[in-house]
Amino acid sequence: MRKFTEKKLLVATHNAGKLAEMRALLTPYGVEVIGAAETALAEPVETEDNFVGNARIKARSAVEATGLPALSDDSGISVDALNGAPGVYTADWAETGNGRDFAMAMQRTWNELEAVQAAEPRNAQFRCTLVLMWPDGHDEVFEGVLPGRVVWPPRGAEGHGYDPIFMPDGHEVTLGEMSADQKNSLSHRALAVSQMIETCFA
Ligand code: IMP
Repeated sequence: MRKFTEKKLLVATHNAGKLAEMRALLTPYGVEVIGAAETALAEPVETEDNFVGNARIKARSAVEATGLPALSDDSGISVDALNGAPGVYTADWAETGNGRDFAMAMQRTWNELEAVQAAEPRNAQFRCTLVLMWPDGHDEVFEGVLPGRVVWPPRGAEGHGYDPIFMPDGHEVTLGEMSADQKNSLSHRALAVSQMIETCFA
């Protein structure tokens, strides 16, 4: 495992929320976090059929464009009774051609579970894969998994994406009903980030 000793880290995301979260977490370790928007970084096409592959595509394209070490993230929800779908296609299920519609994506998830008459509980996991890549091409990979189940109807106005239909194991509320602090204490992304900090930054 390689320790991160560089001064600057490019976070290869156009998502302002993810960037702010990473900056807050890494600034205490003396790292200057730079956002993709600040370097006019292009968004590469995600052509792999797995989270690590797509996270590597994003990290590599950021490293090659800037010469800086880069951190990328690929995430999504995998539903057991749908053979892991939508998985890497989680964001695609929300695509309308005119922005993303997560009400539509959640409805599709439920419709597909109904179509296969999936048994209850309808188990699923949120997954987050982080790839930290150095300019010489070396990388370290971290994965956070949050197990739970899909519920219907959607509940809660907090969070984003598929949060209103996902109830983590050991909880009776959906991620959409949790405060940001509560979600960030248990989420797939928080799990992956804490592994990365422990391994490469602490
Ligand atoms: P990515 O930006 O290509 O990694 O797409 C990830 C997609 O997965 C997002 O657009 C969301 O739809 C979904 N997703 C990832 N993490 C979460 C989460 O914490 N809550 C709800 N949806 C999520």
